[in-house]
Amino acid sequence: MGSSLALGHFLQKLGHTVTVISPTNWAGWVNWMPGTKQVIDFEQHKQIAQEKIAGADWLFCLDFNIFHRTKNLAEHLANAPCTKILVDHHQQPDTPSFHFGISDTSKSSTCEMIYDIIVGSGQADKLDADIAACLYAGIVGDTGSFRFSSATASVHRMVADLKDHGLNHGRVHEGLYDNYLENRLRFMGHVLLNRMEVFYEYNTALIAIPKQDLLKYQIRTGDTDGLVNLPHSIQGIRLVALCIDRDEERKWSFRSKGDFDCNQFARDHFEGGGHFNAAGGRSSDSLSGTVESFRTILNQYQQALNK
Ligand code: 5GP
Repeated sequence: MGSSLALGHFLQKLGHTVTVISPTNWAGWVNWMPGTKQVIDFEQHKQIAQEKIAGADWLFCLDFNIFHRTKNLAEHLANAPCTKILVDHHQQPDTPSFHFGISDTSKSSTCEMIYDIIVGSGQADKLDADIAACLYAGIVGDTGSFRFSSATASVHRMVADLKDHGLNHGRVHEGLYDNYLENRLRFMGHVLLNRMEVFYEYNTALIAIPKQDLLKYQIRTGDTDGLVNLPHSIQGIRLVALCIDRDEERKWSFRSKGDFDCNQFARDHFEGGGHFNAAGGRSSDSLSGTVESFRTILNQYQQALNK
């Protein structure tokens, strides 16, 4: 959302007509971002979104690099007759689907790449407080608040430049982290107490969340964001796996520290992918079935997780 809105604001300032489309709904706590009200949720407004795509000259695909990641939107992106540009930082892009662009894994975030595009275009004077807030939100999210190695010196220089263009960074942090309802915090407490298992022999923590928990605590899209990072605060944990029982699938998230490759792990076992230290996947199996598979698979990685 941060990279799309930032690019959208920038292109509008250049006089273009821009529509931002999200493949699905999004977390309510994102709504503070300037421009979110105008974003089209494809699942809610399929007809309008399809018309916008059919009438577009240019299609910018941000923060994903293969159409199927956008679920039901994928076929419309694939069939769109316009010029398609990829701006992403994930591994293994489906390059032939795009006319221009790059998936640059050396970049902290798609937001950093949008910043580079704006500055590289010679239009840095168009940066303003709204664009800066959207970019900063994505950068904070993807660098784990500047703790991952992807938070390079140039990322910090970019943030300094965004400050010079009016960024109120404290407001963004509040928007990202102090913007939930009480039920979400209670849900987190419940999950950490009752749904987390720690396997010290594998330096791994696992959280499996059944549907009934989501219903009981009225958990909405985005409320589970950040949960997968929490077990990493336990000394020695190298891998955290989170599995959530969603309606259509069991959705996995993986986070590692050091040289354990989550992307490969997710690709090899859970139809997924992502980054080296942060990836996701899915399963059509039941929650207990896929969790059992995870436990079995973990055996193969004892050495890798004890290095
Ligand atoms: P998260 O665990 O926060 O959903 O995702 C972590 C990272 O993995 C993100 O960069 C996300 O784009 C990517 N990711 C999540 N799920 C999948 C998936 O099913 N397939 C692929 N290729 N990437 C995923």
